[in-house]
Amino acid sequence: MRAVRQSGTEPEIAVRSALESMGVAFTTNVKGMPGSPDIWIDDGGAPIFVHGCFWHRHAGCTKATTPKTNREYWVKKFEQNKARDARKVQELRDLGHAAVTIWQCETSDRQRLIEILSSRLKIG
Ligand SMILES: [Zn+2]
Repeated sequence: MRAVRQSGTEPEIAVRSALESMGVAFTTNVKGMPGSPDIWIDDGGAPIFVHGCFWHRHAGCTKATTPKTNREYWVKKFEQNKARDARKVQELRDLGHAAVTIWQCETSDRQRLIEILSSRLKIG
């Protein structure tokens, strides 16, 4: 057993815990890959990004609000974040790895999270 109680955001910890219960082997703190994915599924090499809905702009999500003050600054910042995310996904794809994104708001319900992981990772 590897030590799994490492640092990480709450959503990341929820995803790791769900993967463990599914019996999926994975690595965290992946270095040397575009974007340093939060989690790397060992079998098949699928990178997983666990994204905060606010910072990474989850489309249609109630958490993806835009602050009213300094609006211009925020809009620019969010555009940069989205562009960076898209670039990372493309770089990984170029290396033959299809990245999976899990959103913060998808991690609160464990059973639902397991279903989401199964379908996006095409497990089971
Ligand atoms: Zn969301």
